[in-house]
Amino acid sequence: MTAIFDGHNDALLRLWRAGDDAGASFIAGGATGDSGGQIDLPRARAGGMVGGLFAMFTPPPALAGGSIFNTEPVGFDVAHHATQAMLAIAEAMAQNHPDKIRICRDTGAIRAAVDAGALAMMLHIEGAETIKADLRNFDDLYARGVRSLGVVWSRDNAFACGVPFRFPSSPDIGGGLTGAGRDLVRACNAKGVMIDLSHINEAGFWDIAKLSSAPLVATHSNVHALCASSRNLTDRQLDAIAESGGLVGVNFAVGFLRADGRRDANTPLEILVRHIDYLLERLGESGVALGSDFDGAEMAAGFDSAAHLPKLVTALRGHGYDDALIARICADNWLAMLEKTLG
Ligand code: ZN
Repeated sequence: MTAIFDGHNDALLRLWRAGDDAGASFIAGGATGDSGGQIDLPRARAGGMVGGLFAMFTPPPALAGGSIFNTEPVGFDVAHHATQAMLAIAEAMAQNHPDKIRICRDTGAIRAAVDAGALAMMLHIEGAETIKADLRNFDDLYARGVRSLGVVWSRDNAFACGVPFRFPSSPDIGGGLTGAGRDLVRACNAKGVMIDLSHINEAGFWDIAKLSSAPLVATHSNVHALCASSRNLTDRQLDAIAESGGLVGVNFAVGFLRADGRRDANTPLEILVRHIDYLLERLGESGVALGSDFDGAEMAAGFDSAAHLPKLVTALRGHGYDDALIARICADNWLAMLEKTLG
């Protein structure tokens, strides 16, 4: 089976909201439908997934029953509480089941986990509200294993402006990095924490492109020319990513794939292949990877679980990609990028 390393999932958020403090339902699996989400260990294994970036995203307090598209700002206390709870879930899973899942801090640890048959979990902060503007608690998060960070989710914070969800829309909404944001980017470069551009607006994107010493990475974004969502990347942005030797993880959310921007599950898998084709042309064979957004978005019927990943591999093969290219897209490009960025 083709090995998959995935650039983005929201399983920790789902587990936290479900009150599963030890992540037992992730390990055991078996749940289906909304409460069971789109990814757990048995389904990851069934789909060939060997690891991925696990996001810690703080939902707005009003989210209980409300919309994930609520982009009101969130304060430090709320974000700290949520992030610590999700970190604790990740740590509990890794401590209780070291043979099944591990928190990996570098690519050596990822490869060791894969060899041992354990799922390689790399921790990602999606929106830096949990980091103090003077960065004084960043070291703590690093020590707990955080190796990837999106400066913003799709809302503004002390560091930058997130891109709100609009369709059709340019991502050029709002201003650039703040002084604290510039400090955060420099700190990520210095520590070897990967910076994720997926939810940032265009001004912030260009500020980071200028400032960061690392290749530009969007862990879960798609092609604006094919789906004019504010969350997607314009050709100019893709060219800047290519020039930096960076990478885009293609997002499976139908609302970021379809030309009409509709969140309609009745969407063929072929549309994902079209985005991958476009990204390959723009970024080259080392610049394209996967960033599913499992547990974070609506996906196509029949392709809405980690267990369905082999369907994508089959689609890519059917489209004429050879096994070497498929291996790069599915895992190798992520490992190479993490190696470059984290050291
Ligand atoms: Zn996201």
